[in-house]
Amino acid sequence: MEVFRHDIVIVGGGGAGLRAAIAAVEADPKASVALVSKVYPMRSHTVSAEGGAAGVAAPDDSLEMHFKDTVKGSDFLADQDCVDYFVEQAPKELTLLEHWGCPWSRDEEGRVAVRAFGGMTAKRTWFAADKVGFHMLHTLFQTSMRYDRIVRYDEQFVTKLLVDGGVVKGVAALDVREGTMRAILGRAVILATGGAGKCFPFTTNGTIKTGDGMALAYRAGIALKDMEFVQYHPTGLPGTGILITEASRGEGGHVINAQGERFLVTRDYGVGQKAELGPRDMISRAIMQEIAAGRGIKGPYGDYVHLDLRHLGEAKIMERLPFVRTLSKTYAGVDPVSEPIPIRPVVHYMMGGIDTNIDGATALPGLYAAGETACVSMNGANRLGSNSLTECLVFGARAGIRAIEFARGASVGSEAPLLAQAQEEATRIEDLRGRRKGGEKIAQIRREMQKTMEEGCGVYREQASMHESVRVMAQLRGRVSDLQLEDASKVFNTEILTALELANMVDVAEAIAVAAAARRESRGAHACSDYKARNDQEFLHHSLVTFTPGGPHLDRKPVTITRFQPEERKY
Ligand SMILES: Cc1cc2nc3c(=O)[nH]c(=O)nc-3n(C[C@H](O)[C@H](O)[C@H](O)COP(=O)(O)OP(=O)(O)OC[C@H]3O[C@@H](n4cnc5c(N)ncnc54)[C@H](O)[C@@H]3O)c2cc1C
Repeated sequence: MEVFRHDIVIVGGGGAGLRAAIAAVEADPKASVALVSKVYPMRSHTVSAEGGAAGVAAPDDSLEMHFKDTVKGSDFLADQDCVDYFVEQAPKELTLLEHWGCPWSRDEEGRVAVRAFGGMTAKRTWFAADKVGFHMLHTLFQTSMRYDRIVRYDEQFVTKLLVDGGVVKGVAALDVREGTMRAILGRAVILATGGAGKCFPFTTNGTIKTGDGMALAYRAGIALKDMEFVQYHPTGLPGTGILITEASRGEGGHVINAQGERFLVTRDYGVGQKAELGPRDMISRAIMQEIAAGRGIKGPYGDYVHLDLRHLGEAKIMERLPFVRTLSKTYAGVDPVSEPIPIRPVVHYMMGGIDTNIDGATALPGLYAAGETACVSMNGANRLGSNSLTECLVFGARAGIRAIEFARGASVGSEAPLLAQAQEEATRIEDLRGRRKGGEKIAQIRREMQKTMEEGCGVYREQASMHESVRVMAQLRGRVSDLQLEDASKVFNTEILTALELANMVDVAEAIAVAAAARRESRGAHACSDYKARNDQEFLHHSLVTFTPGGPHLDRKPVTITRFQPEERKY
Protein backbone atom coordinates (compact mmCIF):
# COMPACT_ATOMS: atom_id res chain seq x y z
CA MET A 1 0.00 0.00 0.00
CA GLU A 2 1.21 3.49 -0.82
CA VAL A 3 1.79 5.60 2.30
CA PHE A 4 2.02 9.40 2.32
CA ARG A 5 3.18 11.48 5.28
CA HIS A 6 2.27 15.07 6.15
CA ASP A 7 1.91 17.23 9.26
CA ILE A 8 -1.84 17.50 8.89
CA VAL A 9 -4.45 15.96 6.62
CA ILE A 10 -7.46 18.00 5.49
CA VAL A 11 -10.39 16.08 4.01
CA GLY A 12 -12.37 18.38 1.70
CA GLY A 13 -11.42 20.89 -0.98
CA GLY A 14 -14.44 23.20 -0.64
CA GLY A 15 -14.51 26.61 1.03
CA ALA A 16 -13.73 25.32 4.53
CA GLY A 17 -11.01 22.85 3.51
CA LEU A 18 -9.13 25.29 1.27
CA ARG A 19 -9.33 28.08 3.85
CA ALA A 20 -8.02 25.71 6.54
CA ALA A 21 -5.12 24.63 4.31
CA ILE A 22 -4.05 28.21 3.59
CA ALA A 23 -4.31 29.17 7.27
CA ALA A 24 -2.23 26.17 8.30
CA VAL A 25 0.68 26.84 5.94
CA GLU A 26 0.60 30.55 6.75
CA ALA A 27 0.71 29.80 10.48
CA ASP A 28 3.65 27.44 10.13
CA PRO A 29 6.05 28.13 7.25
CA LYS A 30 7.43 24.60 7.41
CA ALA A 31 4.12 22.75 7.68
CA SER A 32 3.17 20.19 5.08
CA VAL A 33 -0.55 19.79 4.44
CA ALA A 34 -2.38 17.05 2.57
CA LEU A 35 -5.60 18.29 0.93
CA VAL A 36 -7.71 15.25 0.09
CA SER A 37 -10.91 15.55 -1.94
CA LYS A 38 -13.24 13.02 -3.53
CA VAL A 39 -13.75 15.43 -6.43
CA TYR A 40 -11.49 18.01 -8.07
CA PRO A 41 -11.69 20.92 -5.56
CA MET A 42 -13.45 23.32 -7.96
CA ARG A 43 -16.33 20.82 -8.17
CA SER A 44 -17.05 21.06 -4.42
CA HIS A 45 -20.55 22.23 -3.55
CA THR A 46 -19.27 25.66 -2.47
CA VAL A 47 -18.96 26.45 -6.18
CA SER A 48 -22.73 26.46 -6.57
CA ALA A 49 -23.46 29.08 -3.88
CA GLU A 50 -25.25 31.97 -5.48
CA GLY A 51 -26.39 34.72 -3.11
CA GLY A 52 -23.51 35.91 -0.95
CA ALA A 53 -21.48 35.91 2.24
CA ALA A 54 -22.39 37.91 5.36
CA GLY A 55 -20.05 40.33 7.13
CA VAL A 56 -20.64 43.80 8.56
CA ALA A 57 -19.59 46.49 6.05
CA ALA A 58 -22.26 49.21 5.80
CA PRO A 59 -22.05 52.34 8.01
CA ASP A 60 -25.55 51.74 9.45
CA ASP A 61 -24.63 48.19 10.50
CA SER A 62 -22.76 46.85 13.54
CA LEU A 63 -21.20 43.64 14.90
CA GLU A 64 -23.81 43.68 17.66
CA MET A 65 -26.63 43.71 15.09
CA HIS A 66 -25.08 40.79 13.20
CA PHE A 67 -24.66 38.95 16.51
CA LYS A 68 -28.27 39.52 17.54
CA ASP A 69 -29.70 38.61 14.12
CA THR A 70 -27.74 35.34 14.10
CA VAL A 71 -28.69 34.35 17.65
CA LYS A 72 -32.35 35.23 17.10
CA GLY A 73 -32.32 33.45 13.73
CA SER A 74 -30.96 30.36 15.52
CA ASP A 75 -33.98 30.44 17.85
CA PHE A 76 -31.48 30.88 20.69
CA LEU A 77 -29.74 27.55 20.16
CA ALA A 78 -26.48 29.02 18.82
CA ASP A 79 -23.49 29.18 21.18
CA GLN A 80 -23.11 32.89 21.66
CA ASP A 81 -19.32 32.89 22.16
CA CYS A 82 -19.02 31.29 18.71
CA VAL A 83 -21.36 33.85 17.16
CA ASP A 84 -19.34 36.70 18.71
CA TYR A 85 -16.10 35.35 17.28
CA PHE A 86 -17.81 34.77 13.93
CA VAL A 87 -19.23 38.28 13.47
CA GLU A 88 -15.94 39.87 14.50
CA GLN A 89 -13.87 37.81 12.06
CA ALA A 90 -16.37 37.91 9.18
CA PRO A 91 -15.46 41.33 7.67
CA LYS A 92 -11.73 40.57 8.06
CA GLU A 93 -12.06 37.28 6.21
CA LEU A 94 -14.14 38.79 3.41
CA THR A 95 -11.62 41.64 3.02
CA LEU A 96 -8.79 39.11 2.92
CA LEU A 97 -10.59 37.37 0.09
CA GLU A 98 -10.80 40.71 -1.72
CA HIS A 99 -7.02 41.03 -1.38
CA TRP A 100 -6.63 37.55 -2.81
CA GLY A 101 -8.63 38.62 -5.85
CA CYS A 102 -12.30 37.89 -5.17
CA PRO A 103 -14.27 40.21 -7.51
CA TRP A 104 -16.92 41.50 -5.08
CA SER A 105 -19.63 43.59 -6.75
CA ARG A 106 -19.37 47.36 -6.14
CA ASP A 107 -21.76 50.22 -5.40
CA GLU A 108 -21.79 53.51 -7.36
CA GLU A 109 -18.99 54.95 -5.20
CA GLY A 110 -16.76 51.98 -5.82
CA ARG A 111 -17.13 50.44 -2.35
CA VAL A 112 -17.95 46.78 -1.80
CA ALA A 113 -21.71 46.47 -2.32
CA VAL A 114 -23.88 44.63 0.22
CA ARG A 115 -27.38 43.26 -0.30
CA ALA A 116 -30.28 42.41 2.01
CA PHE A 117 -30.77 38.77 3.11
CA GLY A 118 -33.38 36.94 5.17
CA GLY A 119 -33.47 37.60 8.90
CA MET A 120 -30.76 40.29 8.72
CA THR A 121 -31.64 43.80 9.97
CA ALA A 122 -29.12 45.58 7.72
CA LYS A 123 -27.65 45.03 4.29
CA ARG A 124 -24.54 42.96 4.99
CA THR A 125 -24.30 40.25 2.37
CA TRP A 126 -21.26 40.63 0.11
CA PHE A 127 -21.76 39.28 -3.40
CA ALA A 128 -20.25 38.84 -6.82
CA ALA A 129 -23.44 39.08 -8.92
CA ASP A 130 -25.21 35.77 -8.17
CA LYS A 131 -22.20 33.46 -8.63
CA VAL A 132 -20.63 34.06 -5.24
CA GLY A 133 -19.54 30.51 -4.47
CA PHE A 134 -17.83 30.19 -7.84
CA HIS A 135 -15.79 33.35 -7.28
CA MET A 136 -14.98 32.57 -3.66
CA LEU A 137 -13.90 29.02 -4.39
CA HIS A 138 -11.82 30.15 -7.35
CA THR A 139 -10.08 32.76 -5.20
CA LEU A 140 -9.31 30.21 -2.48
CA PHE A 141 -8.21 27.55 -4.94
CA GLN A 142 -5.85 29.91 -6.80
CA THR A 143 -4.43 31.18 -3.51
CA SER A 144 -3.84 27.62 -2.28
CA MET A 145 -1.76 26.97 -5.40
CA ARG A 146 0.79 29.57 -4.30
CA TYR A 147 1.91 27.13 -1.59
CA ASP A 148 3.74 24.04 -2.71
CA ARG A 149 3.44 22.73 0.86
CA ILE A 150 -0.26 22.15 0.22
CA VAL A 151 -0.14 18.78 -1.50
CA ARG A 152 -3.38 17.86 -3.25
CA TYR A 153 -4.87 14.40 -3.43
CA ASP A 154 -7.72 14.91 -5.89
CA GLU A 155 -10.32 12.20 -6.48
CA GLN A 156 -9.33 10.27 -3.37
CA PHE A 157 -12.32 9.03 -1.37
CA VAL A 158 -11.64 8.85 2.38
CA THR A 159 -13.32 5.82 3.92
CA LYS A 160 -11.85 5.66 7.43
CA LEU A 161 -10.08 7.65 10.11
CA LEU A 162 -6.91 5.96 11.37
CA VAL A 163 -6.88 6.17 15.16
CA ASP A 164 -4.24 4.82 17.52
CA GLY A 165 -3.98 5.21 21.28
CA GLY A 166 -7.03 7.46 21.33
CA VAL A 167 -5.48 9.97 18.86
CA VAL A 168 -6.31 10.37 15.16
CA LYS A 169 -3.25 9.99 12.95
CA GLY A 170 -4.43 9.91 9.37
CA VAL A 171 -6.97 8.54 6.92
CA ALA A 172 -7.44 5.61 4.58
CA ALA A 173 -8.49 6.76 1.10
CA LEU A 174 -9.61 4.98 -2.04
CA ASP A 175 -7.90 6.29 -5.17
CA VAL A 176 -10.86 6.67 -7.52
CA ARG A 177 -8.80 6.44 -10.69
CA GLU A 178 -6.82 3.35 -9.72
CA GLY A 179 -9.16 1.65 -7.29
CA THR A 180 -6.39 1.13 -4.74
CA MET A 181 -6.30 2.11 -1.07
CA ARG A 182 -3.75 4.55 0.31
CA ALA A 183 -2.80 5.61 3.80
CA ILE A 184 -2.37 9.37 4.21
CA LEU A 185 -0.82 9.97 7.62
CA GLY A 186 -0.71 13.20 9.63
CA ARG A 187 -0.58 14.22 13.27
CA ALA A 188 -3.95 15.97 12.99
CA VAL A 189 -6.93 15.61 10.65
CA ILE A 190 -9.53 18.23 9.69
CA LEU A 191 -12.86 17.09 8.27
CA ALA A 192 -14.28 19.69 5.87
CA THR A 193 -16.54 17.39 3.92
CA GLY A 194 -19.70 19.51 3.60
CA GLY A 195 -23.36 18.69 4.18
CA ALA A 196 -25.72 15.75 3.73
CA GLY A 197 -28.73 17.03 1.78
CA LYS A 198 -28.79 13.85 -0.31
CA CYS A 199 -30.36 11.98 2.61
CA PHE A 200 -33.56 13.62 1.26
CA PRO A 201 -35.19 13.15 -2.16
CA PHE A 202 -35.70 16.83 -2.99
CA THR A 203 -32.66 19.02 -2.36
CA THR A 204 -30.55 21.87 -3.73
CA ASN A 205 -27.46 19.86 -2.83
CA GLY A 206 -25.06 18.33 -5.32
CA THR A 207 -24.91 14.54 -5.63
CA ILE A 208 -21.65 14.47 -3.66
CA LYS A 209 -23.23 15.85 -0.48
CA THR A 210 -23.63 12.57 1.34
CA GLY A 211 -22.45 13.39 4.86
CA ASP A 212 -19.23 11.35 4.56
CA GLY A 213 -17.28 13.30 7.18
CA MET A 214 -20.17 13.17 9.64
CA ALA A 215 -20.32 9.40 9.24
CA LEU A 216 -16.51 9.03 9.57
CA ALA A 217 -16.52 10.98 12.85
CA TYR A 218 -19.66 9.23 14.09
CA ARG A 219 -18.14 5.79 13.58
CA ALA A 220 -15.00 6.94 15.38
CA GLY A 221 -17.15 7.67 18.43
CA ILE A 222 -17.64 11.42 17.99
CA ALA A 223 -21.12 12.80 18.62
CA LEU A 224 -23.20 14.45 15.92
CA LYS A 225 -24.82 17.60 17.29
CA ASP A 226 -28.22 19.19 16.57
CA MET A 227 -28.90 16.88 13.63
CA GLU A 228 -32.68 17.39 13.82
CA PHE A 229 -32.31 20.87 12.37
CA VAL A 230 -32.52 20.50 8.60
CA GLN A 231 -32.94 23.73 6.67
CA TYR A 232 -35.57 23.94 3.95
CA HIS A 233 -34.88 26.80 1.56
CA PRO A 234 -38.18 28.40 0.52
CA THR A 235 -37.36 28.82 -3.15
CA GLY A 236 -36.32 25.71 -5.09
CA LEU A 237 -37.50 24.83 -8.59
CA PRO A 238 -40.08 22.01 -8.47
CA GLY A 239 -38.80 18.78 -9.97
CA THR A 240 -35.06 19.42 -9.94
CA GLY A 241 -34.69 21.20 -6.58
CA ILE A 242 -32.37 23.71 -8.21
CA LEU A 243 -31.94 26.74 -5.98
CA ILE A 244 -33.30 30.17 -6.82
CA THR A 245 -31.15 32.27 -4.51
CA GLU A 246 -32.49 34.26 -1.58
CA ALA A 247 -30.72 37.22 -3.22
CA SER A 248 -33.73 37.37 -5.54
CA ARG A 249 -35.82 38.35 -2.51
CA GLY A 250 -32.95 40.48 -1.19
CA GLU A 251 -33.12 42.45 -4.43
CA GLY A 252 -36.88 42.95 -4.00
CA GLY A 253 -38.59 39.80 -5.32
CA HIS A 254 -42.10 38.90 -4.08
CA VAL A 255 -43.56 35.53 -3.12
CA ILE A 256 -47.15 35.18 -4.37
CA ASN A 257 -49.85 32.50 -4.31
CA ALA A 258 -52.17 31.32 -7.09
CA GLN A 259 -54.29 34.45 -6.69
CA GLY A 260 -51.25 36.69 -7.04
CA GLU A 261 -51.47 37.62 -3.35
CA ARG A 262 -48.29 38.52 -1.41
CA PHE A 263 -49.31 36.33 1.52
CA LEU A 264 -46.20 37.11 3.57
CA VAL A 265 -47.51 40.68 3.69
CA THR A 266 -51.27 40.10 3.82
CA ARG A 267 -51.39 37.18 6.29
CA ASP A 268 -49.82 36.63 9.69
CA TYR A 269 -46.94 34.19 9.31
CA GLY A 270 -44.80 35.74 12.07
CA VAL A 271 -42.40 37.50 9.71
CA GLY A 272 -43.87 40.96 10.41
CA GLN A 273 -42.45 43.86 8.42
CA LYS A 274 -39.70 41.66 7.03
CA ALA A 275 -42.19 39.97 4.70
CA GLU A 276 -40.12 38.19 1.99
CA LEU A 277 -36.98 38.88 4.00
CA GLY A 278 -38.09 36.82 6.95
CA PRO A 279 -35.95 33.82 7.99
CA ARG A 280 -36.04 30.65 5.92
CA ASP A 281 -37.79 28.39 8.42
CA MET A 282 -40.77 30.75 8.71
CA ILE A 283 -41.12 31.41 4.98
CA SER A 284 -40.93 27.70 4.16
CA ARG A 285 -43.73 27.03 6.65
CA ALA A 286 -45.82 29.88 5.23
CA ILE A 287 -45.54 28.42 1.72
CA MET A 288 -46.53 24.95 2.96
CA GLN A 289 -49.57 26.46 4.68
CA GLU A 290 -50.62 28.36 1.57
CA ILE A 291 -50.40 25.14 -0.42
CA ALA A 292 -52.33 23.20 2.26
CA ALA A 293 -55.04 25.89 2.18
CA GLY A 294 -55.47 25.30 -1.57
CA ARG A 295 -53.85 28.56 -2.65
CA GLY A 296 -50.96 26.88 -4.47
CA ILE A 297 -50.64 26.12 -8.17
CA LYS A 298 -50.89 22.51 -9.37
CA GLY A 299 -47.90 21.17 -11.26
CA PRO A 300 -46.47 17.85 -12.45
CA TYR A 301 -44.20 17.71 -9.37
CA GLY A 302 -46.80 18.73 -6.80
CA ASP A 303 -48.18 22.10 -5.76
CA TYR A 304 -46.06 25.22 -5.74
CA VAL A 305 -46.24 29.02 -5.39
CA HIS A 306 -44.56 31.80 -7.38
CA LEU A 307 -41.52 34.00 -6.95
CA ASP A 308 -42.18 37.21 -8.84
CA LEU A 309 -39.27 39.35 -10.08
CA ARG A 310 -41.09 41.06 -12.95
CA HIS A 311 -41.28 44.45 -11.23
CA LEU A 312 -37.48 44.54 -10.84
CA GLY A 313 -37.07 45.05 -14.58
CA GLU A 314 -34.67 43.47 -17.04
CA ALA A 315 -31.72 45.78 -16.33
CA LYS A 316 -31.61 44.99 -12.60
CA ILE A 317 -32.17 41.28 -13.15
CA MET A 318 -29.28 41.22 -15.63
CA GLU A 319 -26.98 43.16 -13.32
CA ARG A 320 -27.74 41.46 -10.01
CA LEU A 321 -29.41 38.13 -10.82
CA PRO A 322 -28.25 36.98 -14.27
CA PHE A 323 -27.80 33.38 -13.11
CA VAL A 324 -31.35 33.25 -11.70
CA ARG A 325 -32.60 34.20 -15.17
CA THR A 326 -30.48 31.49 -16.81
CA LEU A 327 -31.59 28.81 -14.32
CA SER A 328 -35.28 29.77 -14.62
CA LYS A 329 -35.21 29.71 -18.40
CA THR A 330 -33.26 26.46 -18.62
CA TYR A 331 -34.89 24.43 -15.87
CA ALA A 332 -38.39 25.89 -15.49
CA GLY A 333 -38.98 27.26 -18.98
CA VAL A 334 -39.87 30.74 -17.69
CA ASP A 335 -38.16 34.09 -18.21
CA PRO A 336 -38.38 35.97 -14.88
CA VAL A 337 -38.37 39.28 -16.75
CA SER A 338 -41.88 38.52 -17.99
CA GLU A 339 -43.16 35.53 -15.94
CA PRO A 340 -43.17 34.47 -12.27
CA ILE A 341 -40.92 31.55 -11.27
CA PRO A 342 -42.51 28.36 -9.81
CA ILE A 343 -40.95 27.56 -6.42
CA ARG A 344 -41.43 25.33 -3.37
CA PRO A 345 -39.41 24.61 -0.18
CA VAL A 346 -36.44 22.30 -0.69
CA VAL A 347 -33.84 20.68 1.61
CA HIS A 348 -30.81 22.93 1.54
CA TYR A 349 -28.51 22.85 4.55
CA MET A 350 -27.64 20.92 7.71
CA MET A 351 -27.48 23.09 10.79
CA GLY A 352 -26.19 20.05 12.68
CA GLY A 353 -22.94 18.20 12.23
CA ILE A 354 -19.81 16.97 13.98
CA ASP A 355 -19.72 18.27 17.55
CA THR A 356 -16.77 20.66 17.90
CA ASN A 357 -15.72 23.44 20.24
CA ILE A 358 -14.97 26.99 19.11
CA ASP A 359 -11.54 25.84 17.83
CA GLY A 360 -13.12 23.23 15.58
CA ALA A 361 -11.69 20.53 17.88
CA THR A 362 -13.69 17.37 18.51
CA ALA A 363 -13.55 15.10 21.55
CA LEU A 364 -11.06 12.87 19.69
CA PRO A 365 -7.57 14.38 20.12
CA GLY A 366 -6.17 15.51 16.76
CA LEU A 367 -9.54 15.51 15.00
CA TYR A 368 -11.00 18.85 13.85
CA ALA A 369 -14.01 19.76 11.71
CA ALA A 370 -15.10 22.95 9.92
CA GLY A 371 -17.67 24.14 7.41
CA GLU A 372 -21.07 22.57 6.86
CA THR A 373 -19.98 19.18 8.21
CA ALA A 374 -19.22 20.73 11.61
CA CYS A 375 -21.55 22.04 14.28
CA VAL A 376 -19.56 24.67 16.13
CA SER A 377 -22.42 25.83 16.80
CA MET A 378 -23.31 29.22 15.38
CA ASN A 379 -26.43 28.28 13.41
CA GLY A 380 -28.45 26.67 16.19
CA ALA A 381 -31.93 25.68 15.06
CA ASN A 382 -31.97 27.83 11.91
CA ARG A 383 -29.11 29.31 9.89
CA LEU A 384 -29.46 32.75 8.34
CA GLY A 385 -28.76 32.79 4.61
CA SER A 386 -25.23 33.98 3.70
CA ASN A 387 -23.75 33.10 7.12
CA SER A 388 -22.54 29.73 5.87
CA LEU A 389 -19.96 30.79 3.29
CA THR A 390 -18.45 33.14 5.86
CA GLU A 391 -18.55 30.37 8.47
CA CYS A 392 -16.38 28.23 6.16
CA LEU A 393 -13.78 31.03 6.10
CA VAL A 394 -13.86 31.98 9.78
CA PHE A 395 -13.93 28.52 11.30
CA GLY A 396 -11.95 26.90 8.47
CA ALA A 397 -9.08 29.29 9.24
CA ARG A 398 -9.35 28.73 12.98
CA ALA A 399 -9.38 24.93 12.62
CA GLY A 400 -6.35 25.10 10.29
CA ILE A 401 -4.33 27.09 12.81
CA ARG A 402 -5.36 24.96 15.78
CA ALA A 403 -4.68 21.70 13.93
CA ILE A 404 -1.16 22.81 13.04
CA GLU A 405 -0.53 23.77 16.68
CA PHE A 406 -1.76 20.37 17.81
CA ALA A 407 0.39 18.60 15.22
CA ARG A 408 3.50 20.46 16.35
CA GLY A 409 3.12 19.06 19.85
CA ALA A 410 2.09 15.54 18.86
CA SER A 411 4.41 12.62 18.33
CA VAL A 412 4.30 10.43 15.24
CA GLY A 413 4.54 7.18 17.18
CA SER A 414 4.61 3.81 15.53
CA GLU A 415 3.07 3.60 12.07
CA ALA A 416 2.50 -0.14 12.25
CA PRO A 417 -0.98 -0.09 13.87
CA LEU A 418 -2.13 2.64 11.45
CA LEU A 419 -0.98 0.71 8.42
CA ALA A 420 -2.62 -2.43 9.77
CA GLN A 421 -5.93 -0.55 10.01
CA ALA A 422 -5.53 0.82 6.49
CA GLN A 423 -4.80 -2.69 5.24
CA GLU A 424 -7.93 -3.98 6.97
CA GLU A 425 -9.90 -1.21 5.30
CA ALA A 426 -8.42 -2.15 1.92
CA THR A 427 -9.66 -5.71 2.45
CA ARG A 428 -13.14 -4.49 3.37
CA ILE A 429 -13.34 -2.36 0.21
CA GLU A 430 -12.05 -5.25 -1.93
CA ASP A 431 -14.80 -7.47 -0.52
CA LEU A 432 -17.41 -4.88 -1.39
CA ARG A 433 -16.25 -4.35 -4.97
CA GLY A 434 -18.52 -6.27 -7.33
CA ARG A 435 -20.00 -8.13 -4.36
CA ARG A 436 -22.66 -10.22 -6.04
CA LYS A 437 -23.71 -12.32 -3.09
CA GLY A 438 -25.56 -9.47 -1.32
CA GLY A 439 -29.34 -9.30 -1.29
CA GLU A 440 -29.96 -5.53 -1.37
CA LYS A 441 -29.92 -2.96 -4.17
CA ILE A 442 -28.33 0.45 -3.67
CA ALA A 443 -31.17 2.29 -5.41
CA GLN A 444 -33.86 0.53 -3.37
CA ILE A 445 -32.31 1.39 -0.01
CA ARG A 446 -31.66 4.97 -1.10
CA ARG A 447 -35.29 5.33 -2.20
CA GLU A 448 -36.62 3.99 1.10
CA MET A 449 -34.27 6.22 3.10
CA GLN A 450 -35.19 9.37 1.19
CA LYS A 451 -38.90 8.59 1.39
CA THR A 452 -38.93 8.06 5.13
CA MET A 453 -36.78 11.15 5.74
CA GLU A 454 -39.14 13.33 3.72
CA GLU A 455 -42.19 11.89 5.47
CA GLY A 456 -40.75 12.03 8.98
CA CYS A 457 -38.41 15.02 8.90
CA GLY A 458 -40.00 17.49 6.48
CA VAL A 459 -40.93 21.16 6.97
CA TYR A 460 -43.63 20.02 9.44
CA ARG A 461 -43.02 16.95 11.58
CA GLU A 462 -45.29 14.69 13.61
CA GLN A 463 -44.30 12.41 16.45
CA ALA A 464 -45.81 9.35 14.77
CA SER A 465 -44.00 9.79 11.45
CA MET A 466 -40.72 10.75 13.13
CA HIS A 467 -40.81 7.56 15.18
CA GLU A 468 -41.64 5.63 12.03
CA SER A 469 -38.51 7.15 10.40
CA VAL A 470 -36.45 6.04 13.40
CA ARG A 471 -37.77 2.51 12.95
CA VAL A 472 -37.20 2.43 9.18
CA MET A 473 -33.69 3.88 9.47
CA ALA A 474 -32.66 1.28 12.05
CA GLN A 475 -33.83 -1.40 9.65
CA LEU A 476 -32.01 0.19 6.70
CA ARG A 477 -28.82 0.31 8.77
CA GLY A 478 -28.97 -3.47 8.96
CA ARG A 479 -29.82 -3.90 5.29
CA VAL A 480 -27.12 -1.60 3.95
CA SER A 481 -24.43 -4.06 5.05
CA ASP A 482 -25.85 -6.63 2.64
CA LEU A 483 -25.53 -4.71 -0.64
CA GLN A 484 -25.32 -6.41 -3.97
CA LEU A 485 -22.89 -4.80 -6.42
CA GLU A 486 -22.33 -5.60 -10.08
CA ASP A 487 -19.17 -3.78 -11.09
CA ALA A 488 -15.89 -5.46 -10.18
CA SER A 489 -13.70 -3.05 -12.16
CA LYS A 490 -11.08 -0.88 -10.49
CA VAL A 491 -10.86 2.23 -12.66
CA PHE A 492 -13.43 4.93 -11.83
CA ASN A 493 -15.77 2.39 -10.28
CA THR A 494 -18.60 4.76 -9.37
CA GLU A 495 -20.81 1.93 -8.10
CA ILE A 496 -18.59 1.27 -5.12
CA LEU A 497 -18.43 5.00 -4.33
CA THR A 498 -22.22 5.13 -4.41
CA ALA A 499 -22.37 2.17 -2.03
CA LEU A 500 -19.95 3.82 0.40
CA GLU A 501 -21.88 7.08 0.22
CA LEU A 502 -25.16 5.31 0.84
CA ALA A 503 -23.81 3.66 3.99
CA ASN A 504 -22.68 7.11 5.19
CA MET A 505 -26.08 8.65 4.48
CA VAL A 506 -27.89 5.87 6.32
CA ASP A 507 -25.90 6.61 9.49
CA VAL A 508 -26.44 10.36 9.16
CA ALA A 509 -30.15 10.02 8.35
CA GLU A 510 -30.69 7.77 11.35
CA ALA A 511 -29.03 10.36 13.60
CA ILE A 512 -31.34 13.06 12.14
CA ALA A 513 -34.45 10.97 12.79
CA VAL A 514 -33.43 9.96 16.32
CA ALA A 515 -32.63 13.55 17.34
CA ALA A 516 -35.84 14.86 15.74
CA ALA A 517 -38.13 12.35 17.43
CA ALA A 518 -36.69 13.22 20.84
CA ARG A 519 -37.18 17.00 20.56
CA ARG A 520 -40.75 17.39 21.71
CA GLU A 521 -41.03 21.12 20.99
CA SER A 522 -40.92 23.45 17.98
CA ARG A 523 -37.78 25.50 17.52
CA GLY A 524 -36.29 27.00 14.35
CA ALA A 525 -36.44 24.52 11.49
CA HIS A 526 -37.88 21.79 13.74
CA ALA A 527 -41.63 22.44 13.54
CA CYS A 528 -43.37 19.66 15.43
CA SER A 529 -47.14 19.53 14.91
CA ASP A 530 -47.72 17.77 18.26
CA TYR A 531 -45.68 20.30 20.24
CA LYS A 532 -46.19 23.65 18.57
CA ALA A 533 -44.43 25.88 21.12
CA ARG A 534 -40.78 26.33 21.94
CA ASN A 535 -40.06 24.83 25.35
CA ASP A 536 -36.94 26.39 26.89
CA GLN A 537 -37.61 24.71 30.21
CA GLU A 538 -36.96 21.25 28.80
CA PHE A 539 -35.26 21.70 25.44
CA LEU A 540 -32.91 24.68 25.50
CA HIS A 541 -29.99 22.33 24.89
CA HIS A 542 -28.01 20.85 22.01
CA SER A 543 -28.71 17.24 21.19
CA LEU A 544 -25.86 14.78 20.74
CA VAL A 545 -26.18 11.47 18.91
CA THR A 546 -23.39 8.95 19.48
CA PHE A 547 -22.81 5.68 17.67
CA THR A 548 -23.01 2.47 19.65
CA PRO A 549 -23.05 -1.06 18.20
CA GLY A 550 -26.65 -1.39 19.38
CA GLY A 551 -27.79 1.84 17.67
CA PRO A 552 -27.63 5.58 18.23
CA HIS A 553 -27.35 6.90 21.78
CA LEU A 554 -28.92 10.28 22.55
CA ASP A 555 -27.48 12.87 24.92
CA ARG A 556 -27.60 16.61 25.53
CA LYS A 557 -25.17 19.49 25.92
CA PRO A 558 -25.75 22.97 27.35
CA VAL A 559 -26.03 26.03 25.08
CA THR A 560 -23.55 28.85 25.74
CA ILE A 561 -25.58 32.00 26.43
CA THR A 562 -23.49 35.08 27.13
CA ARG A 563 -25.60 38.23 26.86
CA PHE A 564 -28.70 37.65 24.72
CA GLN A 565 -31.28 35.90 26.91
CA PRO A 566 -33.86 33.82 25.03
CA GLU A 567 -37.04 35.73 24.24
CA GLU A 568 -39.99 35.12 21.95
CA ARG A 569 -38.76 34.99 18.36
CA LYS A 570 -40.89 37.33 16.34
CA TYR A 571 -40.11 39.78 13.57
C1 LIG B 1 -27.07 25.61 -4.30
C2 LIG B 1 -26.50 26.16 -3.03
C3 LIG B 1 -26.37 27.53 -2.87
C4 LIG B 1 -25.86 28.05 -1.68
N1 LIG B 1 -25.76 29.42 -1.56
C5 LIG B 1 -25.21 29.93 -0.43
C6 LIG B 1 -25.02 31.34 -0.30
O1 LIG B 1 -25.29 32.14 -1.19
N2 LIG B 1 -24.48 31.81 0.86
C7 LIG B 1 -24.10 30.97 1.88
O2 LIG B 1 -23.60 31.45 2.90
N3 LIG B 1 -24.27 29.63 1.76
C8 LIG B 1 -24.81 29.10 0.63
N4 LIG B 1 -24.96 27.74 0.53
C9 LIG B 1 -24.40 26.88 1.57
C10 LIG B 1 -22.87 26.82 1.42
O3 LIG B 1 -22.55 26.94 0.06
C11 LIG B 1 -22.29 25.53 1.95
O4 LIG B 1 -22.73 25.29 3.26
C12 LIG B 1 -20.76 25.61 1.96
O5 LIG B 1 -20.27 26.00 0.70
C13 LIG B 1 -20.15 24.29 2.38
O6 LIG B 1 -18.76 24.34 2.20
P1 LIG B 1 -17.83 23.20 2.76
O7 LIG B 1 -16.43 23.61 2.47
O8 LIG B 1 -18.20 22.91 4.15
O9 LIG B 1 -18.22 21.91 1.91
P2 LIG B 1 -18.28 21.64 0.33
O10 LIG B 1 -18.08 22.84 -0.48
O11 LIG B 1 -19.50 20.84 0.12
O12 LIG B 1 -17.00 20.73 0.09
C14 LIG B 1 -16.89 19.43 0.62
C15 LIG B 1 -15.57 18.84 0.19
O13 LIG B 1 -15.37 17.61 0.86
C16 LIG B 1 -14.92 16.64 -0.04
N5 LIG B 1 -15.35 15.32 0.45
C17 LIG B 1 -16.59 14.96 0.90
N6 LIG B 1 -16.58 13.66 1.26
C18 LIG B 1 -15.32 13.20 1.05
C19 LIG B 1 -14.69 11.93 1.21
N7 LIG B 1 -15.35 10.87 1.66
N8 LIG B 1 -13.39 11.83 0.85
C20 LIG B 1 -12.70 12.88 0.37
N9 LIG B 1 -13.26 14.09 0.19
C21 LIG B 1 -14.54 14.25 0.53
C22 LIG B 1 -15.56 17.02 -1.36
O14 LIG B 1 -14.82 16.48 -2.43
C23 LIG B 1 -15.48 18.55 -1.30
O15 LIG B 1 -14.23 18.97 -1.75
C24 LIG B 1 -25.47 27.19 -0.64
C25 LIG B 1 -25.58 25.82 -0.81
C26 LIG B 1 -26.11 25.31 -1.98
C27 LIG B 1 -26.28 23.83 -2.09
